[in-house]
Amino acid sequence: MARKFLLCFHDINIWNYRKVVPEIRSLKDLCGRGFSLLVIPCTDGATPEAVREFRDTLLQLESEGFELALHGYKHKAEFSQGRSYMGLVGMNLTGGEAEFAGLCEYESSRLLQCGLKAWNDLFSAEGSTSVVTHTLPAAFIPPTWYSNRHLPGQVRAAKMLYEDRFSLTTAKGFRYASPVASFAGLPASLEKLAVAFGSLIMRLPVGIPRLAIHPDDYPRMRGVVRDLVRAALNNRRTLAHYGEL
Ligand SMILES: [Zn+2]
Repeated sequence: MARKFLLCFHDINIWNYRKVVPEIRSLKDLCGRGFSLLVIPCTDGATPEAVREFRDTLLQLESEGFELALHGYKHKAEFSQGRSYMGLVGMNLTGGEAEFAGLCEYESSRLLQCGLKAWNDLFSAEGSTSVVTHTLPAAFIPPTWYSNRHLPGQVRAAKMLYEDRFSLTTAKGFRYASPVASFAGLPASLEKLAVAFGSLIMRLPVGIPRLAIHPDDYPRMRGVVRDLVRAALNNRRTLAHYGEL
C-alpha cells in the first residue's frame, strides 16, 4: 500500500474564504491535486447573495478536485452549561473555540445536528445555477480537536469519518494512527519545534500524517507549509482524501 498523507486547510468560512482561496489554489499547484477543505458552515449575519457566492466557490473548488469536510458549527461556543470540567478547561485554552469540548450527550448531538443543518442550508441556498443536493461531508473535525466522549459515536452514526488529534476513524469503525502538525495558536518560540515535528511525521513509516493549515498561518508560514508538503512528496507519500480512507 502506498504511503499517504493528508493536507487539511482548516477554518474556511464565509468571512475569510476570499482571502484564502488564492493560497489554496497555489498549494494545489504544488501538490498536483486538490486536498481537504474544512468548512465552518454557519453563515449567520451574511446576506443571501454572500451565502450563494460562498457556496458557489466551495462547489467550484470541489469540481477542481478538492474535498469538503465539516468543521463544527460556528467554531465559537456560546454557552458553558452542560460541559464537564475538562470541557471548561478546553474552552479556556482555546479562547472559546472548542465548541464541542466536554458537552453532555444531548448537547453534543444537538450541536452536531446544528452543524449538519447549517451545511445543508449552505448547499441548498436558492438562486444557484443548479439545484444542488450536496452529499454528506467527507469527514467531521471538531474545532481545535477538543471533543467529548459521545461525539465520535455520534459522528460515525451520521456516516462520517471522525478525526481527533491523534487518529482518524472511518464511519465503519476502522481506525488509523494519524499524527498532526499544526501551527495554530503556537507561540513563535515553538514554531521551529512544530516544523521539525512536521518533517519528522512525514518521514515516519507508520500511520497517515496530517498537515493542518490555518488561515492565520498566512503569510508568515507560507514557505514552511510548502517545505513540509515537498518533504511529504519527496518521501514518496501520496496526498490522500478523507473520502478515500
Ligand atoms: Zn478550526
